[in-house]
Formats: sequence, structure tokens, C-alpha cells
Amino acid sequence: MRYDNDNIFARILRGEIPAFKVYEDAQTFAFMDIMPRAPGHMLVIPKAAMRNLLDADAQALAACMSTAQKLARAAQAGLGADGITLMQFSEEAGGQEVFHLHFHVIPRYAGQALGRPGQMGDMDEIAALAKKISAALESA
Ligand code: AMP
Repeated sequence: MRYDNDNIFARILRGEIPAFKVYEDAQTFAFMDIMPRAPGHMLVIPKAAMRNLLDADAQALAACMSTAQKLARAAQAGLGADGITLMQFSEEAGGQEVFHLHFHVIPRYAGQALGRPGQMGDMDEIAALAKKISAALESA
């Protein structure tokens, strides 16, 4: 399967589509999922073009994991998350909808089930959560 340069996350990386950015380094970019399955749901993507786990290079995977851990700790410190669910879907059969490698970092709260996918979130609430996560990242 080939990488499509016009997928939505490639467009976010090029700045063509806005995103609630929470973190960026040389190899990765992290932003809020606009259809959150729990408050503070984030996505980590590599800056380099790769479709999913099947074609990713090991260095990019390692960089994404390092960023995912930073986000997880920031969710714990900044949002009071009790736990984290990390998810990755590869190819349509695996549940993937956007074909640029991404990891879901989902803060979890005791007793709260994951919400359904595909439900648009409240943008003001997402922006406020992004601010708290960014602040926690800065003070880490
Ligand atoms: P999947 O490919 O199934 O792992 O999921 C793609 C994820 O991207 C879903 O959780 C969507 O809610 C999320 N998503 C789609 N478009 C955007 C966007 N423009 N900004 C942030 N998240 C998005």
C-alpha cells in the first residue's frame, strides 16, 4: 500500500489544516483528537511519511513511543488521569481510518468507559484540555 501525501495528518503537518498541537520535536508531532474517546485523547505521529506499523521505520516508532510516554505523564500530572490506553490501528482491516502512522494516547479515569469513536468533541473543551497538557509538558 502506498502513502498518500494528501491524507489529513500530512496536511496537518504541512500546516494546511489547523490542529490543537500539544507537543513537537524533531521527529514527532502530537495533537488533540477532535473526536475524543475520553477527555484529553491525543494522537502522536511521526513527521516522516509512513502509513502505519507495517511500513514504519524502527527509529520513528521509538521516537513516537518516547513522545507517547511524555504525553501519558502529562495527562496524569495535568489532567489527573488514573491510567492511559495506548492504541494503534494498521490498515482498514485493523480499524485504521487515517493513513499516516499514529498512536492514540487516551487518558483514562477510574470507572469511566471509553466513549464511542466518531463523535465530534466540544472544541472549547478540547482547547482547554490541550492547554493543561501543554502546561504539564512544559513543567515536566
Ligand atoms: P484511526 O485511523 O482509526 O486510528 O483514527 C483516526 C483518528 O483521527 C480518529 O480518532 C479521529 O477522530 C482522528 N481525526 C480525524 N481527523 C482529525 C483531525 N482533523 N484532527 C484531529 N484528529 C482527527
